[in-house]
Amino acid sequence: MKIFSKSLVIMCLLSITNVLMAQHNICGTDQYMAEMLKANPQLLKSISDYNDGISKASDFDIRLNKKGVTRTIPVVFHVIHTYGAENISKAQIEDQMRILNEAYQRLNKDTSNTRSIFKSVAGDLDVEFKLARKDPSGNCTEGITRTYSELTDGGDEAVKNLIRWDYRKYLNIWVIKYIARDATPTSRVLGYATLPAFTNSTSDGIVILADYVGSIGSAIGNNNNGATLVHEAGHWLGLYHPFQGGCGGNCSNSGDYICDTPPVDEPSYGCPTTNNTCNNDVPNQLDMVENYMDYANGTCQNMFTKGQKAVVDYNFGNASYRAQNISTAAHTFTGVFTTPTCSAIADFNTANNVITVCQGGNVSFKDYSYNGVVSSYDWTFEGGTPAVSGTSAPTITYNGTGLYNVTLKVTNAQGSNTKVVTKMINVIPSVSLNATPVAEGFENANVLTTSWKAWETGEYGWKRITTTKYEGNAGMVATIDQGTVNNASYSLVSAPYNLSLIKGRLPKLKFKVAYRPGITGSTEILTVSVSSDCGQTWRALKAYSNSSGLGVDKVVELGWKPTIQSEWKELILDLSAYENVKNLMVKFEARSRSGNSIYLDNVNIEADLAASNKLLSPNTSTISVYPNPSKGSVTIEINTKGKSFEGIKILSTTGQVIENIETIVNQNDTEFNFTANHLKEGIYFAQIKLDGQLIIKKFIVIF
Ligand SMILES: [Zn+2]
Repeated sequence: MKIFSKSLVIMCLLSITNVLMAQHNICGTDQYMAEMLKANPQLLKSISDYNDGISKASDFDIRLNKKGVTRTIPVVFHVIHTYGAENISKAQIEDQMRILNEAYQRLNKDTSNTRSIFKSVAGDLDVEFKLARKDPSGNCTEGITRTYSELTDGGDEAVKNLIRWDYRKYLNIWVIKYIARDATPTSRVLGYATLPAFTNSTSDGIVILADYVGSIGSAIGNNNNGATLVHEAGHWLGLYHPFQGGCGGNCSNSGDYICDTPPVDEPSYGCPTTNNTCNNDVPNQLDMVENYMDYANGTCQNMFTKGQKAVVDYNFGNASYRAQNISTAAHTFTGVFTTPTCSAIADFNTANNVITVCQGGNVSFKDYSYNGVVSSYDWTFEGGTPAVSGTSAPTITYNGTGLYNVTLKVTNAQGSNTKVVTKMINVIPSVSLNATPVAEGFENANVLTTSWKAWETGEYGWKRITTTKYEGNAGMVATIDQGTVNNASYSLVSAPYNLSLIKGRLPKLKFKVAYRPGITGSTEILTVSVSSDCGQTWRALKAYSNSSGLGVDKVVELGWKPTIQSEWKELILDLSAYENVKNLMVKFEARSRSGNSIYLDNVNIEADLAASNKLLSPNTSTISVYPNPSKGSVTIEINTKGKSFEGIKILSTTGQVIENIETIVNQNDTEFNFTANHLKEGIYFAQIKLDGQLIIKKFIVIF
């Protein structure tokens, strides 16, 4: 068995990056086993015992050449999704079940492609997979669960904590959108499994990419024909890769411990039928690229061997391995030999996966109910018009601002089920109450629950961070490292802001970023977009790469983070085209290249002061605010000579008026002293109205 350390794997991949950019689809099981072993070195003994066992069993049982009875394994698919294409259909899962059963009973239609040299060792494994018909509570199930979670995007092992059924009774298969494990720009992991000797009650089962389940639906065009799960189920039943030990030594006590699979030096990609990577086998045979346990395309794979059957038989004969999964007790518990009709489980989302809408706007809903055929729908829309609906895909108008619940009750002859999503629809005012200018320093610990929204997946994605920031007590980070899926993207969306308040003053979006690439020639991307329709559609203003403003060229350091202010830079985008928008939202989308995190702070929407001054008459007053930063007292000096002075307002970063001081100054005042002792540390604006024009000055209070 080949167990790499992670650093070794990374070194090898980096060394070939420049010559080999083609992406290989691989299995993550070896890497997974290596990690389990590292976490629990005592596993070495169980692996050693297991290898001894299959070594003896494969020799013995092949000689017996037993023709057994079909062994039935109850199966459950846990689809983890965010209502995207990864929420695969029941039909696609049933197609996968057909493929599994054909492969494990040598009923696959392409057995004729098995080359004549291997036909005599091709084996029927006598294994049948059946979807569970009872869940662990005894409820009727179609053997498919569906769970909403952003962990579908690279969550890997973490998805097992969302839902798992007893591993001695069910084969748990988690279907997810991306597998982060060991993925690099040159390799993509399609699935990984627990071998019987590497398992426990919390980890046991298979994780597979949604796009590689079956051969229809989202799997169309992937060239694998459902063979990925055939391969991973082989691991779950105790089979190693044929290249496990390279050319290895004695076939019965090294490599995959099976003698009728010729040794293979390295994984086969594509369908290389002339390959013969090892010459130490007797007789010397070509590589068996058609074996399901190698890495060739699914269209190339069409066989297991009798030796592999012997190993699977060994696992079925051992209570510590897979015997319990095919027991009468498991069959009864999971109801696999019954065919009940189940009541449906209510599930829904908006049709476009967007849950914000402008006041007066429409939202279309989509039914995602499962586990049974729905005979009637009963929707309730708080704050919506109409407030109820009996159709499967209603469109609802929302006239009042706020957060509203949505309820769906589905019914059939077997019963009914109700799903309520509280505060699901966020109806944003036509004119946002959030004034501009804006200075968002992410100082408020509740900023992500009360106004902005951040997307994250487990340890990756946007988070508020207090340890690394430009100034103040906190900033934001899009956490990315070598374990982050290449191309995964994470969004940070602002509250809506009324930009029209600074109309005519060249409104600008300014923000501080800090970034260095982790890998030479590779850069994370930060795309800044705006929405003027309450998040229904977005328009990209700019996509920043390392060389186009995000970072500093030629500085590459994995795990880099800023430690001093000079390592941050300010980026500025013109918002003039949106100056009439009264509810503008801003989105920062960080795209991973499996390199480094992107740090963000001080997202400000500002009126251009120069433009403001230009708007005043030529002999305009000057306005100064000092000291800045201030430690308790701020002097605002204004030359109001000949001007119509209408007062000063002190605003918070969210536009809230903290002080309105128009009544305590008169036309002759040229200097106003404002005591800031009662303010918290942070950023404030002095808004001065002179001759009908607004002038805005930012100041910082520090104690
Ligand atoms: Zn594998």
